[in-house]
Amino acid sequence: MKHWQRTSDCGTLNINHLGEEIVLNGWVNRSRDHGDLVFIDLRDRTGIVQVVIDAATSPEMIDTARSLRSEFCVSIQGRVRARREGAVNPNLATGEIEVITDHLEVLSTSKTLPFQVSDESAMSQVDETLRVKYRYLDLRRPKMYQMLALRHKVVTLIRDFMNAESFLEVETPIFTKSTPEGARDYLIPYRLNPGYFYALPQSPQQYKQLLMVAGVERYYQIARCFRDEAQRADRQPEFTQLDLEMSFVTQEDILSLIERLITHVVTSVSDKQILSPFPRITWDEALRRYGSDKPDIRFGLELVDISELVRGKGFSVFNNVLANGGEVKALRYPKGSSLSRREVDELATFCKEFGAQAMASIAVNEDGAKSPISKFFEPETMTAILKACEAEVGDLICLVADTPKTVANVLGRLRLEIGNRLGLRDPNKLYFNFITDFPLVQWDETEKRWDAEHHPFTMPREEHLEYFDTDPGKIRAQCYDLVCNGQESGSGSIRIHRPDIQSKVFSLLGISEETQRERFGHILDAFSFGAPPHGGFAPGIDRLIMNLQDEPNIREVMAFPKMGLGYDPMMDAPSAVDAAQMKELGLEVRPHKK
Ligand code: ASP
Repeated sequence: MKHWQRTSDCGTLNINHLGEEIVLNGWVNRSRDHGDLVFIDLRDRTGIVQVVIDAATSPEMIDTARSLRSEFCVSIQGRVRARREGAVNPNLATGEIEVITDHLEVLSTSKTLPFQVSDESAMSQVDETLRVKYRYLDLRRPKMYQMLALRHKVVTLIRDFMNAESFLEVETPIFTKSTPEGARDYLIPYRLNPGYFYALPQSPQQYKQLLMVAGVERYYQIARCFRDEAQRADRQPEFTQLDLEMSFVTQEDILSLIERLITHVVTSVSDKQILSPFPRITWDEALRRYGSDKPDIRFGLELVDISELVRGKGFSVFNNVLANGGEVKALRYPKGSSLSRREVDELATFCKEFGAQAMASIAVNEDGAKSPISKFFEPETMTAILKACEAEVGDLICLVADTPKTVANVLGRLRLEIGNRLGLRDPNKLYFNFITDFPLVQWDETEKRWDAEHHPFTMPREEHLEYFDTDPGKIRAQCYDLVCNGQESGSGSIRIHRPDIQSKVFSLLGISEETQRERFGHILDAFSFGAPPHGGFAPGIDRLIMNLQDEPNIREVMAFPKMGLGYDPMMDAPSAVDAAQMKELGLEVRPHKK
């Protein structure tokens, strides 16, 4: 047995261990040198305990103790004793005891760290790229360890839940062929046939469907997905999702499974409030009421359609918009009537930034409604507008007239802004909801073609099959998103399992029959061998951890994240490879044009 074979963990010691002879291993969080007495805050992954080296009892150890610096890795042997009165630290779990040491060994010394991991309060000043470059040090911080531990716990809960529901965990390949999820692929050159490439999976979508054809019936995987797309605070080039698929199920079977799973995980690891059941809201309704297909339903303030109240009345701007198929909607800003003229102008600028031509407003005061547009309307119309908005004295009513898409976008964003300003987006609530019945396709104006709203394997509503040739924009799909607090947390669908419908959807997406065979022949073939009806879902795990920790930055919930542009400052990746390797792969690099 090594003499540093540990017997105890730092953070778990307390007065129940008084008198015990123990061995601890860990890092010097801090040390205080009082000459003949040295105090060490010794840290391991469980916490911190105070260790004392006293020259009077261990004279041969005192020089080593005095030489300790922060982050030296050490082992100590000693005895647990009560701290003397007045030295008890109520802020520390181990604050009632300390360990008096008779043997101390430095296992490894440390240079001065690029940032102090022991000083959590100073961490916000540290540049994030530096933290990620030295992630192995950053992860020494208890806060980061707790994040890893939470992730581990969540994944364990998920696995236990799925196993109990008779799902089979199956690994699917990372080297594969392009599976479209709307992003660019990451490609891997194939050495044995230059010019050929594997693609990293944007999701295991096709494999999981093929597992259903295989008769697995219930599959899941904690799956890594790779997508080369513009990065944002909540996106990474590789991320993790719980990927699942089931045969012989309805949409509601899948939604209720997800609801039970998420409820189980969230209530097991947090005190956050959640809704039960998760509201199911159709896509059309979400846009109509919240101006968004990812509504934050922690607060009301729904959009109010006043088109019919103002149609044909005296305001030509509204009339023109309505005559062109547009709409006029209102949003209540509680207590907004006290905003200054400049503040209201700023709100209008906010709306213009998101595409509105203008924003009109009505201030509701004790002495009536004041608005630059009131002169265009009879008093009854103004009253009817206020009534429709359930306006109260003190409110500001914001009005936008435009195409339905612009109105939804502008007022949806304004709604969130007002929610933020009024503190209505309570971080103690995790309000999950399902958005259902998405359009199957959306028109890409630049490319002049239909794009899949989710992915091309989504089943259209059967009664909408007739719109394929007449009005594809009208087709609603049997697909759904899980949304939490205004953010997408996952998506899924009932899948196409008939080759004729699959081929029809590919054709609608502009994929020629020849290309269909080339890219998706395997799936079309598979569907001709007794494919069961099936569907699935994939909630994001990183996103779930972000919600649980109320953390807007996805990098904070990953062990080894990439920084902007996909750069990994720790490994210095991506990096150039040597010429011989390039030659072997049959690759040549053209210098970037300036
Ligand atoms: N493959 C989809 C995704 O990654 C999820 C699903 O439809 O199951 O978003």
